[in-house]
Amino acid sequence: MSVLLRVHDLAVAYGHIEAVKGLDFHLNEGEITALVGANGAGKSTTLLALSGLIKASRGKIEFQGEDISRLPAHQIVERGLVQVAEGRAILTTLTVEENLQLGAYTRQDKEGIPASMEEVYQLFPRLKERAQQFAGNLSGGEQQMLAIGRALMAKPKLLLLDEPSMGLAPIVVQEIFRILVEINRRGLTILLVEQNVRQALKIAKHGYVIETGKIVLADSGANLLANPKVEEAYLGG
Ligand code: ATP
Repeated sequence: MSVLLRVHDLAVAYGHIEAVKGLDFHLNEGEITALVGANGAGKSTTLLALSGLIKASRGKIEFQGEDISRLPAHQIVERGLVQVAEGRAILTTLTVEENLQLGAYTRQDKEGIPASMEEVYQLFPRLKERAQQFAGNLSGGEQQMLAIGRALMAKPKLLLLDEPSMGLAPIVVQEIFRILVEINRRGLTILLVEQNVRQALKIAKHGYVIETGKIVLADSGANLLANPKVEEAYLGG
């Protein structure tokens, strides 16, 4: 199993407050890995640092063996590390199809774009049905699907998701997670950040638990689900 992303001693500060305090973790190629923890633990900050949207104050981020920790965000996307934005961040006054096309703008292989569009429509038939509608008219779940679809249009090697279940009804959450498993089955490596700890650990091969900017547990998803400490702190004891 080869390592796709390796993080060593990653720290991120907002002013003089250190939100992430020296993380070590790695993602195996082809796996879903979950990063779980409570509100304010530092999950989003970690993802922003991986995407190059905020600068690490310390540490190293290696993607496919290359140190990307000093690269600008657009170069990180071009290398295949693509984040699905929290809060969806879709463009509501553009159509579904236009939003998807925007996801592909960094791609070199423009000739591959129609095939990717077909694949997204196959994964999300509802987006195909609504291709010409304004994205702002989609339901919350459909907007999340569009955000994931748009990230897939960039042809990622690693997909980062920040709380895809947030604000969605349980049945929609099930659907989103089912699709993440399917996307992973097709070969994509996924880092899933979630407060929905149970659901995330169910589909993750490996997981990390983060508390106040530090990783406190690392294990297989199944072992973490069965861990009494996780049960007590995150699964309602
Ligand atoms: P949530 O699930 O609520 O997003 P999280 O685990 O993603 O939580 P972060 O958003 O990474 O946590 O926040 C980690 C810490 O950094 C928190 O204490 C938070 O208040 C602080 N923080 C986050 N963003 C900023 C910012 N822009 N300026 C100052 N402090 C921030």
